[in-house]
Amino acid sequence: MTAPSPASPASPASPASSDRAADVIVVGAGPSGSTTAYHLAQAGLDVLLVEKTAFPREKVCGDGLTPRAVKQLLAMGIDPQPGDGWVRNHGLRIIGGGMRLELPWPDLATFPNYGLVRTREDFDEILARQAQKAGARLQERTNVTGPVLDAAGRITGVTARTVDADGHKSDELTYRAPIVVACDGNSTRLSLAMGLRKRDDRPLGVAVRTYYNSPRTDDDWLESWLELWDGDRLLPGYGWIFGVGDGTVNAGLGILNSSGAFQNVDYRDLLRRWLDTTPIEWGFREENRTSPIRGAALPMGFNRTPHYTRGMLLVGDAGGMVNPFNGEGIAYAMESGAMAAETIVQALGRATPAGRERALEAYPLALKQAYGGYYTLGRVFVKLIGNPNVMKLATRHGLPHPTLMRFTLKLLANLTDPADGDPMDRVINALTKVAPAA
Ligand SMILES: Cc1cc2nc3c(=O)[nH]c(=O)nc-3n(C[C@H](O)[C@H](O)[C@H](O)COP(=O)(O)OP(=O)(O)OC[C@H]3O[C@@H](n4cnc5c(N)ncnc54)[C@H](O)[C@@H]3O)c2cc1C
Repeated sequence: MTAPSPASPASPASPASSDRAADVIVVGAGPSGSTTAYHLAQAGLDVLLVEKTAFPREKVCGDGLTPRAVKQLLAMGIDPQPGDGWVRNHGLRIIGGGMRLELPWPDLATFPNYGLVRTREDFDEILARQAQKAGARLQERTNVTGPVLDAAGRITGVTARTVDADGHKSDELTYRAPIVVACDGNSTRLSLAMGLRKRDDRPLGVAVRTYYNSPRTDDDWLESWLELWDGDRLLPGYGWIFGVGDGTVNAGLGILNSSGAFQNVDYRDLLRRWLDTTPIEWGFREENRTSPIRGAALPMGFNRTPHYTRGMLLVGDAGGMVNPFNGEGIAYAMESGAMAAETIVQALGRATPAGRERALEAYPLALKQAYGGYYTLGRVFVKLIGNPNVMKLATRHGLPHPTLMRFTLKLLANLTDPADGDPMDRVINALTKVAPAA
């Protein structure tokens, strides 16, 4: 437990102590942090959004956005017009079992019918600037080092060091707020310091990606390859090819931990071997590679809980919110950010500490209600496809059935209408309701 630290002398680049207090501190300005900060600022709260890096910055990702993420962008007042750096897509093209299938995003009342591609170098900065425009105070180059706790163990702020452009660190400074939101990604040092460890009973993925100069840069479908072979072993996961629209393509692959291969696969080598099987004219060869192959973990199915404890909320990857069915994390980071903001606005409007606490405790319940049943199904799915025979059966016998595949797309991308949906929507909604919440 960290005792409240006395205010350190501020270095010249460090903010004054009056600027180090806020209604809410949001740690990390990835999609979860910027969305949380945007909605909080829109509601008129004083929000401090602290980020250890400086924009623009790289983030290892596939750069693919499904209609779920587009909906969240629109809710933040961002209009992703084509030609403005956004590449729109119509749906998912699936390659596997000797088939090539194009499945358009479903036409729904709840979600738009298009997805997008945009590199995270751009995307994350657009979101952070939008939060800033709404009134959030974005402070880049500020590395949060730990929580500040009161005598009861409740978080009352964070300690952080600012880092100038030359890499010089300030003394440790104290930032204060009655509520802190951990949006610091999969490694979430802040949650760890609050005693919240990763759960091993939840699925985990690993994904790697790189970029190639390629004539496929303007592809307006997200493409996924279902057959990743390691020798004669079929792996649970998929490869993707997403056109970025700037002359390059993001190509990568992700594997789930339900396979024995998880620990002992050379992911970079696997990526190269898979891409070597693609037509040479697509350009996915070493001489056209424009950046290193980088990888990171995909924390899935609520792999860190509780999502609220002692004044701190967990949002996005910090709370393990990646969809186990498809590895999508951005939409869930943004949705959970919006839910966290809504909860905090209500909590700060309560007159008593007890009332505030009751309001904050609604956040994990809202998450459970939104994703609990679906993530439980996801866990079953991850276990099933960890068996190569099931994976083989699914690709060989599933892909030739267009209706089954349309259903599968809705299930894997979590795209249904909650009410008045078609029969497929009703089956999926019923399944997620009967599954016990994760
Ligand atoms: C290879 C790969 C491909 C992927 N492809 C896709 C995809 O195509 N589509 C999709 O939807 N999802 C994809 N994902 C998942 C997606 O990247 C994540 O789910 C998403 O980035 C989560 O957002 P976040 O804001 O919770 O965390 P992050 O994006 O990780 O943001 C965390 C932020 O916190 C900052 N931070 C961390 N520690 C501190 C600290 N101590 N102090 C201050 N700031 C801090 C970081 O610098 C960062 O800016 C992919 C993941 C990987 C690894």
